[in-house]
Order: sequence, then C-alpha cells, then structure tokens
Amino acid sequence: MTHDELLEWSRRAAAWALDYHNGMRDRPVRAQVAYGATAARLPGTPPEAPEPMDAIFADFEAIVPDATTHWQHPRFFAYFAANASPASMLAEQLANAIAAQAMLWQTSPAATEIEQVMVGWLRDALGLAPAFAGTIHDSATTATLCAVLTMRDRALGWRSVDEGLCGAPRLRIYASAQTHSSVDKAVRLAGIGQANLVKVPTADDHGMDPAALDAAIRADLVAGYKPAGVVMCFGGTSIGAFDPVAECIAVAKAHDLYTHVDAAWAGSAMICPEFRQLWDGVDRADSVVFNPHKWLGVQFDCAVQFLADPAPQIRSLGLRPDYLQTLGQEEIVNFNEWTVPLGRRFRALKIWFVLRAYGLEGLRMRIRNHVCWAAELADIIAHMDGFEITTPPALSLFTFRYRDDAATADLLTRVNDDGRVYLTQTRHEGQFVIRVQVGQFDCTRDDVMTVAEVLARLSQGS
Ligand SMILES: *Cc1c(COP(=O)(O)O)cnc(C)c1O
Repeated sequence: MTHDELLEWSRRAAAWALDYHNGMRDRPVRAQVAYGATAARLPGTPPEAPEPMDAIFADFEAIVPDATTHWQHPRFFAYFAANASPASMLAEQLANAIAAQAMLWQTSPAATEIEQVMVGWLRDALGLAPAFAGTIHDSATTATLCAVLTMRDRALGWRSVDEGLCGAPRLRIYASAQTHSSVDKAVRLAGIGQANLVKVPTADDHGMDPAALDAAIRADLVAGYKPAGVVMCFGGTSIGAFDPVAECIAVAKAHDLYTHVDAAWAGSAMICPEFRQLWDGVDRADSVVFNPHKWLGVQFDCAVQFLADPAPQIRSLGLRPDYLQTLGQEEIVNFNEWTVPLGRRFRALKIWFVLRAYGLEGLRMRIRNHVCWAAELADIIAHMDGFEITTPPALSLFTFRYRDDAATADLLTRVNDDGRVYLTQTRHEGQFVIRVQVGQFDCTRDDVMTVAEVLARLSQGS
C-alpha cells in the first residue's frame, strides 16, 4: 500500500466507521461467537505474495465485526465503559499519521508539552491542588505499578535501586479487599510478594477502616516488617467502594508511608464539583491515577497519574544513558523517566481534542445523566418481583441479584445471550451478584431503562 492509496482507504474506513456506529443498536452487545471460531476462519500461514486491499478489507468486514463485543454500544453496562468519543478517534488518527515516539522531549516536543498542559488542565478540572504534576500512562495498572515501585525504593532508602531486594527487610503494602487486582499484580511485579500486600478490613460502607489500617501497620512494625505504602481504593471495580481518603492518608503519613489513590473509574466524575466530597483530603496524596479512557471519552489507552512530587518516581524509574541525552539540556522533562516503557505514544492529543470538542460542561452533563439514570434504574429493579438491590448506586454502579445464586447466574447468561444489553457479575459478601454500570458515552435514558425491560422479560418463567 502506498500513501496515496492510504488516503483512499482512510476515506473508506471512515465511511465504514460511520455505518458501524449507526447500525450499533441492531447488534447484540456481547459477541455471540464460540471460542476458537474466529481463529478457524484465518489461514494457518501468512501470504508470501502481496494481496489486494479489497480482499483484506472484505475479510475484515466478514470476520471482525460479528466476532466483536461492542464496547461503544450505547447499551454496554458491563465492567466499566471504555469510551471512545468521535473527537478522540479523530485525534488518534492524527497521532497515528504522525506516529512519533514521545519518549524524550526532543523526539516529540509537541507530545511532551501538550502532555504537560493536558495534565494541568485535567488536574484543575478535577479540582486537585495546583502543586500536582503528572504524566500519561497506557493504563492504571502501569501507574499503580510505578507508585508501588516508588513505595518500595523509598522505604528501602533507595538502596534497592542498585542492590535489589536480597537481604532487604520484608516490605508491606496496605490496601483494602475492594482494591483492584492491579494492586496485587504491582506488588508481585515489584518483588514484594503477594503475601506482603495486607488487605485491611473495611467498615460497613466497604471503605477501608482507618483504625484497622493503623493497627495493621503497628502490628507489622512489632513483627519486624517494613511498611512501605498505602494504596487507596476510590471507586472499586466490584461494587464501587470508596476508602475514606483523608483518614487513610492521615494514618499513612503518621507512619511516613507513601500514598497512592486508585481512582481509575470514579476519578472522571470529579469534574463535577458536587461529587468531590467523596475524595476530601486527596490533595495530601503522593500519587493519584484516573483513566480518562473510562468515563471521560478519551479512548483507550489513556491513564493519567498525578504526582505531588515526581522526583521519587523518577529516582526509581529514570535512566538517562548516553544515547538518550539531550545535549546541553539536562533539566528537561523526558516522560519516559516517569514510567516503565521507553517508547511512548502521543496520548495527550486525544485529551486535547476531547476537552475542546465537548467542553467540561458537555462531559459533566453525561456523567450527571449516568448517575441519575443509574439511580432511577436501581429503583425500578428494587420493585421488581424476585429482585433485590445488593449494593446501592455508587455514582453510576450498583449490583442486584435475582432470587438466589443459581437463578442470578442463569438470568445473566440469558441476558447476554439475548444481546440487547450487556451486564457482568461479581461476588459480594459471598453472593453472586450482577453489576450494572451506566457510563457509555452515547447511552440515552431509554437505553438504560431497557435493562429493566430485558430483566423483566427474561426472568419470567424462570
Ligand atoms: C479499570 C480499573 C483498573 C485497571 O485499569 P487499566 O487501565 O485497564 O489498567 C484499576 N483500578 C480500578 C479501580 C479500575 O476500575
């Protein structure tokens, strides 16, 4: 393919994208294909000779859309939405065309400086203190890993950076049982070991109990462990649990521990001032991550990490070998030193486009609608025969069950086979429950109310 042909095919791809979007509501949300069926449709070996783009494109249309779970479907209520607004798709096309490596300032001044400005815009939009700097990672998992690596090295007086963990005291990281599994993964990858991630008991509202956190740290100190940091859950994936941020940070700081707040999903809602009391005290955190690629419409991948002071993280992660120096400019910001990979995509462009194309008011309106519609839907389900709300709406996420575990699981299977809406499950206090998460960028009130209709219809006779 030549660049001239790319122009023609880009036009066709854009036309296909519009058709795909317009036909979305007629498709089942979750893919209805069997495991292995798609792989079986591809030849076992790559072609030796070039193939015409017509044939490649035809196969794409024949094979891919039907074997896809449609994340941009307005009736996607599973997991958390991974919203790709049209403005972010356009920005991604342009970033793809430039295809720069934004690893150093010098390798992409626009990417680095727009990233700095966008982190500042988002910090202000969320109401965070002006002192926070930050960077963009691929995912919240990576940001949390970076924070845990920083906790580790800081607790060991940075000796671990050179010497590794051999002979070092046994570290402890604290988080609640509601925290996302990315924290477990970070602790594993950091060489701290899963057994040293202390799951602190939660209070009745499923947020971490600060007194229990304090007790756990004290007990570990007596037992000879080295506490290193606390990861707070702000909008847990399972049921939307919120740790009391101010109290937990106060306990952590009293023991000189580094703090990281995982607000991957719920952070976006902080563009609405009326929700900010949920994270009162967050300005004392050392690190905060949220995913614009979830609720804000800035398509995957885009996770923003705010840092009260970037220096400790750079001390853990930053390397500047001869071949990556920018001659005569040692003080410059090179974002690869803030994160794990060297190579970096130009992710700030899509934030810039989205914030300008919809404005904070346009984005707030969506989030407020989602929160409101989730409450309305939960209320309807609460009054349906055999249904019970198991956790009330936390912003726009709630859970329910139908009769017992078996009936709930059976209903979920039927809902997703039906395809008009897509829901997923979790376990809460030992029970199998269904999650409803309202957050798709294009969803309407009617789309949300379809959930109640589908549940009423499919639970009949079961
Ligand atoms: C989605 C989510 C994550 C992981 O996000 P990635 O960006 O996919 O790594 C972590 N924590 C919470 C609370 C989440 O909702």
